Amino acid sequence: KSVMEKILQRRSTRMRNLQRTWQESPEGTKMLNFRKSLPSYSEKDGLLSAIARNQVIVISGETGCGKTTQLPQYVLESEIESGRGAFCNIICTQPRRISAMAVSERVSAERGENLGETVGYKVRLEGMKGKNTHLLFCTSGILLRRLLGDSNLNGVTHVFVDEIHERGMNEDFLLIVLKELLTRRRDLRLILMSATLNAELFSKFFGGALTIHIPGFTYPVRAHFLEDILETTGYKLTSFNQVDDYGQDKLWKTQRQLLPRKRKNQITALVEDALKKSSFESYSSKARDSLASWTPDCIGFNLIEAVLCHICRKERAGAVLVFMTGWDDISCLRDQLKAHPLLGDPNRVLLLTCHGSMATSEQKLIFDKPPPNVRKILLATNMAEASITINDVVFVVDCGKAKETTYDALNNTPCLLPSWISKASARQRRGRAGRVQPGECYHLYPRCVYDAFADYQLPELLRTPLNSLCLQIKSLQIGTIGEFLSAALQPPEPLAVQNAVEFLKMIGALDEKENLTNLGKYLSMLPVDPKLGKMLIMGAVYRCLDPILTVVSGLSVRDPFLLPQDKKDLAGTAKSRFSAKDYSDHMALVRAYEGWKDAEREGSGYEYCWRNFLSAQTLQAIHSLRKQFTFILKDSGLLDADSSSSNSLSHNQSLVRAIICSGLFPGISSVVHREKSMSFKTMDDGQVLLYANSVNARYQTIPYPWLVFGEKVKINTVFLRDSTGVSDSILLLFGGSLLKGEMAGHLKMLDGYIDFFMDPSLAECYWSVKEELDKLFQK
Ligand code: ADP
Ligand code: MG
Repeated sequence: KSVMEKILQRRSTRMRNLQRTWQESPEGTKMLNFRKSLPSYSEKDGLLSAIARNQVIVISGETGCGKTTQLPQYVLESEIESGRGAFCNIICTQPRRISAMAVSERVSAERGENLGETVGYKVRLEGMKGKNTHLLFCTSGILLRRLLGDSNLNGVTHVFVDEIHERGMNEDFLLIVLKELLTRRRDLRLILMSATLNAELFSKFFGGALTIHIPGFTYPVRAHFLEDILETTGYKLTSFNQVDDYGQDKLWKTQRQLLPRKRKNQITALVEDALKKSSFESYSSKARDSLASWTPDCIGFNLIEAVLCHICRKERAGAVLVFMTGWDDISCLRDQLKAHPLLGDPNRVLLLTCHGSMATSEQKLIFDKPPPNVRKILLATNMAEASITINDVVFVVDCGKAKETTYDALNNTPCLLPSWISKASARQRRGRAGRVQPGECYHLYPRCVYDAFADYQLPELLRTPLNSLCLQIKSLQIGTIGEFLSAALQPPEPLAVQNAVEFLKMIGALDEKENLTNLGKYLSMLPVDPKLGKMLIMGAVYRCLDPILTVVSGLSVRDPFLLPQDKKDLAGTAKSRFSAKDYSDHMALVRAYEGWKDAEREGSGYEYCWRNFLSAQTLQAIHSLRKQFTFILKDSGLLDADSSSSNSLSHNQSLVRAIICSGLFPGISSVVHREKSMSFKTMDDGQVLLYANSVNARYQTIPYPWLVFGEKVKINTVFLRDSTGVSDSILLLFGGSLLKGEMAGHLKMLDGYIDFFMDPSLAECYWSVKEELDKLFQK
């Protein structure tokens, strides 16, 4: 032990010398002076002694005051300075991988080091750290995963949990685990960092932990709402028939559902008024109709373009930050702006994007100063709201939406949909314009819509299905799920927990006693909804992985089939061309994807998408997700390194159908034929309808007694968005729980019959891997 001690002592001394040398160098001094200008610096000594004296503290402060980059660094520096550098191990979590990467890069630069020396990062599938790394930035998911194998966090001295005000599921989850760990590790220090002022909530959770606020300074920002914007830009609201990606049908409808009727009327009146003012007098009754479904979406891109033009032509110098909902929108808007004579001129405008999946080299550009007389315009997702600070922003354009997972209680499927932000978020976005001088913020929605926003966003734990979370709790082996979750900051409803447990039992991830099965263990490693994860695993076991990879990726990204309002019919016809006689939206997706790959190879991918009403961005996203899934399947040993055999049965249509069923079950509806009409019924909802764009909505009859579906939406009636026809034998053999327990016994009895009167090739597939399958469902 003393040998080890000696080595660490020596290393600590070396670390101190290196640190001093850097701080005394001209560059180091310059960097230090910049850091001293941050508001957090004046609190440094107080913070350090508070951390030394308290096991838990909560720190709040304006975005940009230097929490993320400075506080963990203060601890690191003081440990190094006191000759204990090699003994400390600091972890700082971030909700998003990109901020973990950006911040670690920045902190390394502030220390005059390369990334991966004293400071490193680790995110899923990627990382940069070495044996001398003592400050690690990682995603909250990574720390949770680490706790799986190392429940004491041995060797770790400080944990910072950042951006807790966002109330992400992983952060809330971490807090429960860490709270318990603190009782066992009295020497561990926990520091919580938050941007807004709801710090008391967290302090109370830790029994009245010390809270410290870092006072900051921002300049005033003037807010412009839609009504003002229409006036100043002279933009005419004539374009709601131009439906772009921003205005997808479902979105409008769900948004309409969310707004109370009175608000809807107010908005309608307001926009009508704005329409008249903007001298669009002769609007038709059709335009009137679309007013009723008004959201900022339907006027999205063109309005943003108009606002950007206004800023570039009329306003003072300063960068512009545009808040969008996701990468799809950002890239569409970028393409549109690139074609604009002013905004697309690289001598006048530096157009940059900022989103979760961008490359590190791209990231650096967003912090750089543009050349003189060039205006920097940054299209960003809401990650620019709090986790990344760009200093020279003077103008903010806020679309009022963010993508968040919403809990669709109807079908337990998490869906990533853009929805209205909260007042707190809107204020936060506005604040980004006042960092260096007074700023302007353009909110692309009327003031009355802002008034209808919730004060704060609901914590993720309360708005997403708990299926994945419960699976993770199980794999952490920390008590029963119910007990565990009742310790949360704001515990979810017992019913939501019970639903999740029942669901996990039904798909075979948990056994009757709530023990994790082998399937459950694999599912906890896959970053998708357990239901889709199961489909993937079944695809691998049954050796028809390729089409299943596409289906699962498509269902977890979104539908690549576009449905423009004014060309619904053409789009529907285009989609049904991919369906042949499959009676399946999922197989249509597989064909469309494969066609796109072929077209890409010949260099005509874009044309192909255009002709077939497909979104190239979505197909691209599906493509990269497929790769990711393959990687994880190989990594977890579910797939051989040479994956050729995993596709030996991909050509077997009814098998692929069966695997789709095994994942989507119990999302099942019966097909009832009566005389010339067809109707559909699910177990929970009774009568349902098929979504207009489903290929199955185009047939007069469907030669299958059942449809399995991935998603249903409620718009007065319940609609099935996507479906695949399945036979009795498929349902019997591959329908969820039928595979387990007593049903398995029945199947044994039926064994002979199945071979005899059911689909023989399917039964053969089924029995060929039965053993492998049984193992999956065991503990
Ligand atoms: P907080 O976490 O309180 O929001 P940060 O620690 O992220 O603040 O950032 C503090 C300051 O450091 C920012 O205001 C900005 O001036 C500067 N900064 C952060 N990251 C970078 C970077 N990559 N490049 C240049 N400056 C940066
Ligand atoms: Mg921060």
